[in-house]
Amino acid sequence: AKREGRGNFQFFSPAMNAATHEHLMLENRMWAALEQGGFEVHLQAQVELDTGRVIGAEALLRWHDPELGDIEPSRFIPIAEESGLILPLGDWVLARAMALLAEWQHEGLGGLRLAVNLSARQFGGGALLARLDQLLDQHPIDPSLLELEITETAAMRDPENTRALLRQLRARGFKLAIDDFGTGYSSLAYLKLFAIDRIKIDRGFVKDIEHDPNDAAIVGATIGLAHSLGLSVVAEGVETQYQRSFLRDKHSDEAQGYLFGRPMPAREFGDFVRAQAQP
Ligand code: C2E
Ligand code: CA
Ligand code: CA
Ligand code: CA
Repeated sequence: AKREGRGNFQFFSPAMNAATHEHLMLENRMWAALEQGGFEVHLQAQVELDTGRVIGAEALLRWHDPELGDIEPSRFIPIAEESGLILPLGDWVLARAMALLAEWQHEGLGGLRLAVNLSARQFGGGALLARLDQLLDQHPIDPSLLELEITETAAMRDPENTRALLRQLRARGFKLAIDDFGTGYSSLAYLKLFAIDRIKIDRGFVKDIEHDPNDAAIVGATIGLAHSLGLSVVAEGVETQYQRSFLRDKHSDEAQGYLFGRPMPAREFGDFVRAQAQP
């Protein structure tokens, strides 16, 4: 297409403007949503594979705009990242997560762990530790019940900074997980360099384990590697019984996916956990 001459540029230009325009429109609406309570956190269960018990949840952002309806994180998170809005938004998620953990303590769900996604910006910004300390003052919870998820790509942007920050976070007692494990370009060497607790095997590897022997081998080997480094493993995107028993046979510690439960509003999640506990 590049060779077809200058005319093409004029053809693509309005489309690019439309994309930029949509970007700005969504960004403006996100600022409004942040002020007006348009965001919500949904919770997806994480299940212990041996027992089937729900041991925690991942907090996932949801955005409902009065005119546009529900907008997917895959659409709004990149725009929030680019514009810097992810900082106040991510902060809101952290505060919400801490408040939920505190609520659970009063509702007899005290041992449940809650995992929160951190963007590279939040992670690299330097304000994270102080903010977490402040939130702990507000909500005196057991910090080991809060797990922070960072992607390999975010972790590897500035490995020295990551290393120092992870160590400080760990000293506070927070749990740390590498999200989307296996999708980054990074080497495995960082696993022993970084003070982390768990890896989350990306859904991309789990999806086809029934039919793709390579994916099955990768997942099996990854679990073995993690365990030999003293890390625990959560497998993401588990949708079928086959995947569940495969992962259990390979000794993945935990799993998360539609098979066990979809992300759901926080108030439903409490009932969901109680129902699981008493079948
Ligand atoms: P992620 O952190 O990898 O989250 C897992 C995604 O997989 C979620 O998509 C979840 O709904 C989906 N999922 C879970 N189980 C299954 C399954 O069995 N099958 C399939 N097909 N999908 C499953 P969601 O909620 O749309 O979030 C997409 C991404 O947006 C997240 O990927 C994460 O990168 C980002 N995100 C969501 N909430 C936050 C947040 O609070 N902060 C930041 N920085 N990013 C967030
Ligand atoms: Ca995640
Ligand atoms: Ca993930
Ligand atoms: Ca992902």
